[in-house]
Amino acid sequence: MSVIGDCDYEMLHQNLQKLKEDKTIDCFLYGKSLYGNDLIAFHKGDYGGKQFLITGGIHAREYISCFVVIKLIQEYDLSCGCFFIPLLNPDGVDICLNGLKNVPNDYVELLLRLNNYSTDFSMWKANGRGVDLNVNFDALWGKGKFNKWLPGSENFVGECPCSEVENIALLKLIKRFDLFLSLAYHSKGEVIYHGFSGANKDVKHKIKVFARFFAKLTGYKRLISKNSVGGLSDYLSLHGIPSLTVEVGNDALSHPISYKFLNDIYSKHYQSVKKLFNFVREYDRSSQ
Ligand SMILES: [Zn+2]
Repeated sequence: MSVIGDCDYEMLHQNLQKLKEDKTIDCFLYGKSLYGNDLIAFHKGDYGGKQFLITGGIHAREYISCFVVIKLIQEYDLSCGCFFIPLLNPDGVDICLNGLKNVPNDYVELLLRLNNYSTDFSMWKANGRGVDLNVNFDALWGKGKFNKWLPGSENFVGECPCSEVENIALLKLIKRFDLFLSLAYHSKGEVIYHGFSGANKDVKHKIKVFARFFAKLTGYKRLISKNSVGGLSDYLSLHGIPSLTVEVGNDALSHPISYKFLNDIYSKHYQSVKKLFNFVREYDRSSQ
């Protein structure tokens, strides 16, 4: 276990705790992960009308995205409502940072086998039983170029679409709200992915317009995701909600990107997100 990892784990949980104690932010439990960890969402702004959604931490080793979302929560000051879920995959992030330390006994043997009997889990992406949560959604499920059919650190689609408790809980939560737009934070590469092929023409057009706007503000590259299906952004786009997948962190950095790079990464985001949200609201209003 690296010193950086220890520090990052502590920082992540300290930051989440601070958010939970902040009376200006609504916090609620929307379920439990496979290992029984809390699935927590935060909300700021009005509940009336359409909402935004910002998520992070679906891929374990990309936990730098959790910190980006946490900082966005802290700074968010728009009146328009936004749901934030900084840590979609708490078991996976724990495995990445702590190895087997907090893994329930029933899963230790499985995880060791899936990790080729190495105790270094720093490159782990999946959840606590080897399913990649971001290829598990019901959106051309199992049709991805890199999809795998056996559990592992990454790309296993699960036994059926939306088989995982973390994803079931997430969809149960977000189906209750009408969403303007979703931003799914990942790492790395400074890229904005858009253009799920299953989305209808109108949604695809909106996503392209929003991606272009956000790319200009952040200086990130805009790319069409050709090989990815079954992701959260794919699922939401399929259901008429424009969604962008945002990969933070320069490609030269190696996984997992440590907390110490956060300020540099984050500096490109808050003002850009604010401007994007205002743009999306205006776009939505004018296209009514
Ligand atoms: Zn990812």
